[in-house]
Amino acid sequence: MFLIANTKHLKENLSSNSKILKIIEIFEERGETISSEKFVNSYFAKDFEKSIRDMFRVRSEDVPSVLYRENDFYPAFFKDLMNAKKRVIIVSPFVTFRRLSKFMDIFKLLTSRGVEVRIYTRPIKDLVKEEFSPYIGKAIEQLKSMGVEVIERSNIHFKIAVIDDDIEWEGSLNILSHRDTEEIMRRFKSKSVVEEVLRLLDLQETSEEFSTFVECSKCGRFMVMRVDRNRLYMFCPNCFSKYKLMKGDRVLTQVKCPDCGSYMVLRWGHYGPFLGCSRYPQCTKTRSL
Ligand SMILES: [Zn+2]
Ligand SMILES: [Zn+2]
Repeated sequence: MFLIANTKHLKENLSSNSKILKIIEIFEERGETISSEKFVNSYFAKDFEKSIRDMFRVRSEDVPSVLYRENDFYPAFFKDLMNAKKRVIIVSPFVTFRRLSKFMDIFKLLTSRGVEVRIYTRPIKDLVKEEFSPYIGKAIEQLKSMGVEVIERSNIHFKIAVIDDDIEWEGSLNILSHRDTEEIMRRFKSKSVVEEVLRLLDLQETSEEFSTFVECSKCGRFMVMRVDRNRLYMFCPNCFSKYKLMKGDRVLTQVKCPDCGSYMVLRWGHYGPFLGCSRYPQCTKTRSL
C-alpha cells in the first residue's frame, strides 16, 4: 500500500483529531518514508514556471536600463546617433521645425554614411496646423531629399528610438518636437528589446538587399543593390558611397536564378524594375522587387 502526500504540509494544517493525520502517522510508524525528490526532480517548480511563462508570456530576461530626464536625454541620444552604423528609427508623434533643425546635420551625416534613417510621425497635414508650422513642410522635404524616410502614421502616441540592433530608447519625450516639458526616457542596450519593439510596434524593416558584381568606383569592392520601399540604389558597404539607380540601368546581381542557376540582372519593364534571368530569352524566370 502506498500513500503519496505532502505530509509536511498536511501535518502543519490539519487539526489534531483529523482522520487523515492518523493515517499518515500509521504509515510513518509502520512503513518507510521516501522523499518524492528521489522519483522526480523538483517537477513542480519547473512546470509551474513554464506554465506561468506560457500563460502570461513573462519575459525571463532581466534587462538593465538607464533612466534619463529631458535635460540629459539629448546629449546621450546624440552620442548614440553618432555611433550608429546601420539604422536609426525615431518614432516621434510630433515634429517641430525648431527641434528638427537641430537634427538636420546629424541626419545628413548618417545618410551619407549609408545609415538608414527612418522617422515615424503623425500625418504632416496635421503637423502643419501646429504653432511652429510654417517651415515644417519644407524641413520634411529637406529630410526626404537627404534620403531620410518619413513615414506618416495616424494616432501614434508612443515615443521610441531604435539604433542599430541593440539600442532602444523609450519614454514620454517627443524626440523631434520636445521643448520644455518634464519627461523621462529609458535607454536599453539589448538585442531582444530591439527585436521585441520592432515586432510589436510594427517597425520592421521592409528594405531588401542584393549582392552584385558592380565594383565601387571609390574602393573597388562589390556594391549591394538596395530596395527601400520604392527607392532603388547602389550602396558600398565598405566606403558607404551610393548612387540612385535610374530607369534603364542594368546591374548584374549575385542572386541565382531558381530555375537555371545563372545570375539574375536588374531589368526595367512597364511596371518598374525587376530581376530577370541573365540567360533570357532561353530562361524567362523573373523575380519582383
Ligand atoms: Zn566603396
Ligand atoms: Zn534562369
